[in-house]
Amino acid sequence: MTARLDISADAFRSNIHVVTARIAPAELMVVMKDDAYGHGLDWAVSEAVSAGAGWLGSYDVTSALRMRELAPSTRIFAWAPSDDDEVAAAIAADIDLGVGSIEYLLAVRAQASRLGRPARVHLKIDTGLHRNGIRAESWRTAVDEARAGESAGDLAVTGLWSHLAEASDAEDDASQRIFHDALGVLRSAGIELEHHHLTASAASWERPELRGSLCRIGAFCYGVRSADGPELEGIRPVATLHARVLETDADAAVIGIGSLDGIPSTLVGASVGTPQGMRTVLEIGPTTMRIAGWPGAEAGQEVVVFGEGGASATDLAERVGTVGEEILTRVSPLIPRRHR
Ligand SMILES: *Cc1c(COP(=O)(O)O)cnc(C)c1O
Repeated sequence: MTARLDISADAFRSNIHVVTARIAPAELMVVMKDDAYGHGLDWAVSEAVSAGAGWLGSYDVTSALRMRELAPSTRIFAWAPSDDDEVAAAIAADIDLGVGSIEYLLAVRAQASRLGRPARVHLKIDTGLHRNGIRAESWRTAVDEARAGESAGDLAVTGLWSHLAEASDAEDDASQRIFHDALGVLRSAGIELEHHHLTASAASWERPELRGSLCRIGAFCYGVRSADGPELEGIRPVATLHARVLETDADAAVIGIGSLDGIPSTLVGASVGTPQGMRTVLEIGPTTMRIAGWPGAEAGQEVVVFGEGGASATDLAERVGTVGEEILTRVSPLIPRRHR
C-alpha cells in the first residue's frame, strides 16, 4: 500500500463535543452529505450517534434511508427535492424533509395522504441565495398550504430553515431579517415549530446572533476550517492522508500518491509533513509526487499530505482557490480508508 487515509473517531467525537458546547443552547445537526465529506457515511453515522448527535443531515433521500438503518431513533433531515417514490420512502422511514417550493410541499402532502401518515416538513424561505427556497412574496401562500396540510393530518410543520451566503456579514444580517419575518408569519398562523435553522459551520461558530435553535454543521465536525477563516480552538482534523516514500535521490523523495489519486496537480509549491518537518512539493505526476528531501530520507517512511502532522486540507485548498472539503472529497475512493 502506497497511500492511506486515516480517519480518527477520537477527533470526530471530540470535534462534535467542542461544536456542541460552542453553539449551546442551540442543538447540533451533523451534516453528512458527500459520503460524510469523504470520511465514509456508515462510519460517520455510528460515531456521531455515539457522540450524542441528536440530528443528522443528509442532502438526498437515498443516503438518508441508509442513515435511518444505522440510526433508528436519531432525527434525520433530507433537503434535496426528491421524486414521489423517494418522498414516500422518506415519510415511511420517519425522515424530516426540507421543502423549498409550494409545488414540492403539495407533492409531499400527496404522498403523506396516500400513506396515511403525516410528513414532517421544514419549510425553506429564500433569504437571498435564490437556490431552492420559497420567495418572500409567496410565503403566505405557502404557510396557508402548510396549515391546510396540518389540519388534514397530512403534514406536521416542524421546522423553518434557510441557508446563508456567508459572503459578508451585512448580507447575512439581511438574510436573517427575512428569516425572522418568515418565522413571524408562521407563528401568527398558529404553526408551532420545533426548530428554526439558518447557519452552517462558519456562521454558527462566529455569529451566535444568527443561530436559530438548531445548527447544520458539516465542515467543523470533520475538522475542516473555512478557507480564509481563522484556526478553530479545540478542533482537529479527522482525516489524515499518508503516502509512503517509494524512493529517494540526492535531493528529493518520491511518494506514492499523485494527481490521479485526487491531489490537484496545481499544488506544486505546497508543503507536506515529513519525519523531519515540512518540505516543499516539487512535482506532481499522475501516481507520484516529488518532495524536497530531508536528512535520513528513505523508502518506506511516511509523509503526511494533509491532516495531523502536516498541513490542513484547507491550507492546501487556499493555495489553489478552493475549500478544504474539495481536497478531502477528491481523494480517490481507491485509496484505502483506515477508521480508528
Ligand atoms: C453543506 C451544507 C451545510 C453544512 O455546511 P458546512 O459549512 O460544511 O458546515 C449546511 N446546510 C446546507 C443546506 C448545506 O448544503
